Amino acid sequence: PGMRLDIVSIFPEYFSPLDVSLIGKARERGTLDVRVHQLRDWTHDVHKTVDDTPYGGGPGMVMKPEVWGEAIDAIIADGRAAGSPAADSPITGSPITGSPATGSPITGSPITGSPATGSPITGSPITGSPATGSPFAGGPEASATPRIIVPTPSGRPFTQEIAQELAAEPWLLFACGRYEGIDSRVMREYGARMRVDELSIGDYVLAGGEVAVLVMVEAIGRLLPGVLGNVHSAVDDSFAPGAMRNLLEGPVYTKPPVWRGHEVPEVLLSGHHGKIARWRRDEALRRTVANRPELAAAIDPETLDKHDRKL
Ligand code: SAM
Repeated sequence: PGMRLDIVSIFPEYFSPLDVSLIGKARERGTLDVRVHQLRDWTHDVHKTVDDTPYGGGPGMVMKPEVWGEAIDAIIADGRAAGSPAADSPITGSPITGSPATGSPITGSPITGSPATGSPITGSPITGSPATGSPFAGGPEASATPRIIVPTPSGRPFTQEIAQELAAEPWLLFACGRYEGIDSRVMREYGARMRVDELSIGDYVLAGGEVAVLVMVEAIGRLLPGVLGNVHSAVDDSFAPGAMRNLLEGPVYTKPPVWRGHEVPEVLLSGHHGKIARWRRDEALRRTVANRPELAAAIDPETLDKHDRKL
């Protein structure tokens, strides 16, 4: 069974790249079931309003909680009815073809019936400890819940470690904010019932959560089984877990051996695996020290040998 991803945004068009390349292929194969939803489908006024002025004053607008609550409730109900991956049933009806904007299986009809049945799930708090995994993964269908991801520059940093953790989840729901963000009570409301993570993709401010979600989905998607052509590709990436954890990947070369007078380092042509491994490690260390001194400083000295220390 694949992973289900629900993405809610006022700009579903942003997600058309998910039709191409690795992620597009994973969707075709059923490894990934991506559903993009238009938040405005859950508004009730003619203007389809999703924002309002901030309490306490200040510039900008804040996304209203009601519309987010209706959207998330409806998606959770839909996921449960469809048989969530957590319940081990196959995913059906993934909208692989067609634009994401129109591909939503959930139409804008207002929700009828009660929202997510009030089973008292005691989840981790909104700003819970990282890397503890969702206690709800693999739970029974009736109580299956997505793990909710809210991109925000004020969140915990999204890292390779978190990508790995999220790649093991059966169901993720991404809530893309715009303007000054989403009314904080939305995160509180769902954080009491399921795992909610506010994550930042870096120390800069984007106009909306869409691009941040594309970044996260790509990082997570390429870790899913069968998505990368070469299973070893992810193993020696920068930030990969293991001995090279805090090391950036060094430079890479391909044919021809000389290009515009620039030669490929001789050791790489030597066929000597031990020397090549040593050279790669040296280059990785050099690059880490030069570009990311704070990462280099965090390398456990126990993992360094005599040769490393000389660098
Ligand atoms: N006033 C907010 C702040 O300083 O925290 C900035 C809001 S930003 C203009 C609008 C939306 O873009 C956010 O709600 C979030 O969804 C997204 N966003 C911006 N920068 C981001 C980042 N570094 N990581 C993740 N999401 C980001």
